[in-house]
Amino acid sequence: MKELRGMPVTKAMLKDLEEKIRELKEKGRVPKLAIVRVGEREDDLSYEAGVYKRFQSVGAEVETKALAENVSQSELESCIAQLNEDESVNGVLMFRPLPGHLEEKRIKGLLKQEKDIDCLTSDNDAHLFAADGLGYAPCTPQAVMELLAYYQIPLTGKKVTIVGRSMVVGKPLAMMMLAENATVTICHTKTVDLKEECRKSDILVAAAGVPKLITDEYVRPGQIVIDVGIHVIDEKLCGDVDYEKVAPIVEAITPVPGGVGSVTTAVLLKHTVLSAIIINSKGRGSNEGKVCIS
Ligand code: NAD
Repeated sequence: MKELRGMPVTKAMLKDLEEKIRELKEKGRVPKLAIVRVGEREDDLSYEAGVYKRFQSVGAEVETKALAENVSQSELESCIAQLNEDESVNGVLMFRPLPGHLEEKRIKGLLKQEKDIDCLTSDNDAHLFAADGLGYAPCTPQAVMELLAYYQIPLTGKKVTIVGRSMVVGKPLAMMMLAENATVTICHTKTVDLKEECRKSDILVAAAGVPKLITDEYVRPGQIVIDVGIHVIDEKLCGDVDYEKVAPIVEAITPVPGGVGSVTTAVLLKHTVLSAIIINSKGRGSNEGKVCIS
């Protein structure tokens, strides 16, 4: 069994990004991400800390707009409007889900597409589903794609089963894999025989948000297993895959921690740097237009 670790993928990405950041700085531009966080959810805080560490390690900037749990719709909307106009900010990441009293759909419609580096806007969704090579994909599915590319795991003609149909992971990943010529099956809570759907795949992606859902009964020898899940159980991290039971059977597997999650912040940095390059090439104050995924 081969362990598909995230760190070598991240290191390769950072090498390229450091060079791009240096070139941007020579032109007087520092890539800058703004994080919009409503409340203080533990998983948001932990992701945020990871983002700061990754960005600061390469000289990119991050700023957090920390809003109270009971922030009003209009306050949140003004925050997004202000970030749209702030020329020093070229990427905006808003943690979701938002508290129930806030209308997420309206916020999504406000953010400028060229600063939407995590595919919050319907413009970027449309690019993703059209597979037209424009816009920014959401960072987590993009991290899965980066990992597969790094380990030279081809998708053309492969049967992929994705467990999970969320707009953050399952659906966009299915579209990205389809664009790479995979034959994709998307499973969910109403799937009739999940074990069989998982076993018949060449590549199995677990993104169900259920700790250790995928056991030895869901896999067979020769498969590649990608675990997107992140959970804290008894103060220890685990994924949607029962690693101890699955790893001895399959050909390759991503660990948790140390797998997909560790690549996600590198993708966020990649998108932020790309946005800075595009905005810089158009000149400050003129950041209209479409951008390319990578
Ligand atoms: P979600 O809860 O929004 O969606 C889960 C999906 O899985 C749903 O579509 C649901 O139908 C399906 N599902 C749930 N239980 C199932 C079951 N028993 N059988 C079949 N399908 C089932 O979750 P999400 O936001 O897509 O996140 C999925 C997982 O990925 C979570 O563990 C989350 O923590 C993790 N995550 C990781 C990263 C990362 O960077 N690695 C980023 C975002 C989310």
